[in-house]
Amino acid sequence: KLFNEVQELKGNIRVYCRVRPFLPGQDGKTTVIDYIGENGEILITNPFKQGKDACRMFKFNKVFNTHASQAEVFSDIQPLIRSVLDGFNVCIFAYGQTGSGKTYTMNGPGTSKEDWGVNYRALNDLFDISLSRRNAFSYEVGVQMVEIYNEQPNGLVVPDASLHPVKSTLDVLELMEIGQTNRAVGSTALNERSSRSHSILTVHVRGVDLKNGTTSRGCLHLIDLAGSERVERSEAIGDRLKEAQYINKSLSALGDVIFALAQKNAHVPYRNSKLTQVLQSSLGGQAKTLMFVQINPDTESYSETISTLKFAERVS
Ligand code: ADP
Ligand code: MG
Repeated sequence: KLFNEVQELKGNIRVYCRVRPFLPGQDGKTTVIDYIGENGEILITNPFKQGKDACRMFKFNKVFNTHASQAEVFSDIQPLIRSVLDGFNVCIFAYGQTGSGKTYTMNGPGTSKEDWGVNYRALNDLFDISLSRRNAFSYEVGVQMVEIYNEQPNGLVVPDASLHPVKSTLDVLELMEIGQTNRAVGSTALNERSSRSHSILTVHVRGVDLKNGTTSRGCLHLIDLAGSERVERSEAIGDRLKEAQYINKSLSALGDVIFALAQKNAHVPYRNSKLTQVLQSSLGGQAKTLMFVQINPDTESYSETISTLKFAERVS
């Protein structure tokens, strides 16, 4: 049944747009979001133009408005996540400029249950389902956390990024905390840097069918990408410029890979960045990809929002 649910999704690549609400203290600001439709339409208004030309429509698999709860967002992707137990490989990305809600969607703003983002909910769900199937299947779950900064992958939890077996969501929460504290930087620096690195949480699932002994292996990659904002050439010098160039390179390499897959091209350019190399075995083939495209509502972010939506339009 799960297999069928997943097969019914059109193609292997889905794009969901999520609009961040105005934050406390931002009331009274004007928005560029003109309209959000039931079928994935979103209409953006150019604040610097008037009339018909000022509007641009984009269409994705779905658009979540500013009121969408973490639970609502998760319930939409649940079948995809469960398919990992049946041996599928799945990648879920959060793409967007810094401050657009990538970490909110993936991690959540806090550790209370309503706050939980996709990461915790996914693990929780995988544990729940595997428990409910325990008479028919035996599952082993392991997690791995990798950060890619300036094209260098680093294991966060353990130096060699080796697999950590986990038995419950609590284990994972603890592991993530250890991962955070193991990093030798303060929280401000951590935030700063996290916007310029890709962070990948990988969940490996090995299932054994107790009836016939067949084994399946599935992999779920949950990826909080580096901020997609274009850094002004004139502003960025030294390390900042280098970081910006690496981010640019890897995000466009990711776009090219997903575009090639969506077009069913024979050649998929995986080798152009560390990010696409690390994820190669889970992008393409039977694997499923979902991208959350995060945008800001305010007029100041208009040009970043348009470039984010154009990136997403190309890969959808
Ligand atoms: P990013 O990871 O893309 O840089 P964050 O996830 O840190 O962005 O979000 C920026 C700010 O906006 C945070 O304070 C976050 O709590 C808030 N925020 C993001 N998305 C939402 C949302 N859907 N609802 C409420 N607040 C949000
Ligand atoms: Mg973030």
